[in-house]
Amino acid sequence: MRQARDIIREECEILHLTDKQIREIMSRLHNDLIKGLGKDTHATSIVKCWLTYIQDLPNGKERGKFLALDLGGTNFRVLIINLGENHFDMQSKIYAIPSHIMTGTGVALFDHIAECLANFMKEHNVYEERLALGFTFSFPLKQLGLTKGILQRWTKGFSCSGVVGEDVVQGLKDAIARRGDLSLSVMGILNDATGTLMSCAHKEPHCRIGVIIGTGSNACYVEKTENCELFDGEPGKPDLLINTEWGAFGDDGTLDFVRTEFDREVDSNSINPGKQIQEKMISGMYMGELVRLALVKFTKMGLLFGGHGSDLLFQRGSFYTKYVSEIESDKPGDFTSCMEVLEELGLSHATEADMAGVRHVCECISRRAAHLVSAGIATLLNKMNEPRVTVGIDGSVYRFHPHFHTLMCEKIAQLVRPGIQFDLMLSEDGSGRGAALVAAVACRQRLQFA
Ligand code: BGC
Ligand code: MG
Repeated sequence: MRQARDIIREECEILHLTDKQIREIMSRLHNDLIKGLGKDTHATSIVKCWLTYIQDLPNGKERGKFLALDLGGTNFRVLIINLGENHFDMQSKIYAIPSHIMTGTGVALFDHIAECLANFMKEHNVYEERLALGFTFSFPLKQLGLTKGILQRWTKGFSCSGVVGEDVVQGLKDAIARRGDLSLSVMGILNDATGTLMSCAHKEPHCRIGVIIGTGSNACYVEKTENCELFDGEPGKPDLLINTEWGAFGDDGTLDFVRTEFDREVDSNSINPGKQIQEKMISGMYMGELVRLALVKFTKMGLLFGGHGSDLLFQRGSFYTKYVSEIESDKPGDFTSCMEVLEELGLSHATEADMAGVRHVCECISRRAAHLVSAGIATLLNKMNEPRVTVGIDGSVYRFHPHFHTLMCEKIAQLVRPGIQFDLMLSEDGSGRGAALVAAVACRQRLQFA
């Protein structure tokens, strides 16, 4: 008789992407990137390839004191950053965004942000100073300049009213004006993937791609200005950062040939069904839930836990993505963390075979995510076709998953054109530092042109 273990393995085969499928995904993504950049195809393209208006990477000589806001990741933060000769001094504070604000009005959101900013400035004795501020806003923006960005859609559980279609920088400035007590210059708005690229490039000149595998998923890269058909900024500079917004890849059905019942269910239970399809297969906001749905299925089939789940197991959102990292951190044959997680979920009746099954499901889901990200990065590397590129990466999944980095290195190496060398580099706090660097580079230029 076939054992539960073998049946689980067979069932999980749909989560395994073959090399042929991965190559197909790469060629589809490549087409979508070209469409996003093209004048006549951009409007209907799913992968938008937004222009960032950032053409100068940091040169390591940026100096000064800057404020930064970081909205759209796991936490909302305010930061103060001192760029010095040989040091990078940074202090930050996390503020909660209560869920009624995440789904309330845009005005309430910006008022909340301005209030946190004011409190932070008081605590750091810079309340009276006129500082330059960089705003990391990690949602799809159509940028019309370095300090003007129109929100295209909310992602990752946000849905504040009255912001889509509006300039987010103006929203922030209006909230600051409503208070009337702060004087700041907003020097730039950027995406966290952009921030990651900037903060890596500050240390490592070969950094030409920034990737986020955190709550959401995205990548930005350095494109030749001549390939950016929509660019209308300052001419004469060879490079331009492009925010791909690859998380939307698949929104037109492009990824349906590899999606599973679990992906479809995660999507239909989300607040933005049909949107951010690639992101929902990869990122931290959804990974734990994908695992949970598979575990529920196998429990109902009688393959796990003697067919008896628990209330928590059957409850949406109860399997956190950090559990995946914890479970996969156990040494082979050891199930210490796995047991702790299952106990938290009310599944202390799990046997060792159950734990092996749970671990296998986690491995399949996280491996698929790592391979999808690898396909994306390899597509960019092949498109850029530069001999040596460092990829700056940030985000909770990449940072905390024990095997993500290794899985990615192996897969990307198989997928890039021969002769392309790459490194994957963890970017320490790209969203915060990147915002300060964008502000700093902008100030540097303002001085030059003054
Ligand atoms: C957003 C991107 C962001 C990514 C990572 C996605 O949901 O659309 O702008 O970079 O999440 O935070
Ligand atoms: Mg972040």
